[in-house]
Amino acid sequence: MEKCKICPRNCNVDRIVSKGYCDQTSLKVARVSLHRWEEPIISGEKGSGTVFFSGCNLRCAYCQNYEISRGKGKAISPAALADIFKRLEDCGAHNINLVTPTHFVREILQAAEIYRPSLPVVYNCGGYESTQTLERLRGFVDVFLPDFKYSDDLAAKKYSNCPDYFKVCTDAILKMREIVPTDVIEGGLMKKGLLVRHLVLPNNIDNTVGLLNWLANNLAKDTYISLMSQFVPYGNAKAFPELSRKIYPLEYKIAVNHARKLGFDNAFIQDSDSASEEYIPDFDNSPIKF
Ligand code: SF4
Repeated sequence: MEKCKICPRNCNVDRIVSKGYCDQTSLKVARVSLHRWEEPIISGEKGSGTVFFSGCNLRCAYCQNYEISRGKGKAISPAALADIFKRLEDCGAHNINLVTPTHFVREILQAAEIYRPSLPVVYNCGGYESTQTLERLRGFVDVFLPDFKYSDDLAAKKYSNCPDYFKVCTDAILKMREIVPTDVIEGGLMKKGLLVRHLVLPNNIDNTVGLLNWLANNLAKDTYISLMSQFVPYGNAKAFPELSRKIYPLEYKIAVNHARKLGFDNAFIQDSDSASEEYIPDFDNSPIKF
């Protein structure tokens, strides 16, 4: 068995018998649903066909999906995942949205060999990605939907134990743009392309400004970005006093105004009432059984 170097943690463990940083061995899924709370070009009217994978290679202290990033879910085979792809298509999903897929890329590609979705495939990840692994997704993934969490290495180390996040994530975003160089929007839905997300953190506005500056300096101004205001002090966030509250409207306004000043044409912004635990899916009540 090849030792796992799927992501930049480079744990070099045999995932059949050992767990690395992501704390996962074989394929495990926490929730399957038609999700209507993604950006409009992803959710559309009928919903995005989301598959939430258990575990995560980042395990951020404030994770907004804390239970599943810490492993809640059910072990399934690649064949069962292929069946989930088919059933999401049958349910009318606009796309197949792979949420936190990085540590299961091998099994996802095995599932794709059994059944190749006819819908656009969305790779919805935390942004801490190996460019070699992204290369394996060329021709399979249509839409890259990475988080861009940090420009500040100290924040990355403190909240995600990931001091090289900025370098790794920016290399990954450039690789994603190279793999899918053009955004294709049809009927109000992204069929191919790149949409970069950022969750604004309380007391970290310089982090937000820094990564927006990088995006403006390295990608076209019509790149799709999404500034999210929905942070709630979830998971282990309260261990960090500066993360123990929602963001202030002024913090979000600074972020949005800075994106405008930099000239981004295609920026999604959220209503102030988005910072609610209502927006955190209940992983015990999956609407699609698997
Ligand atoms: S996928 Fe998991 S085991 Fe593999 S390198 Fe990344 S964190 Fe380590």
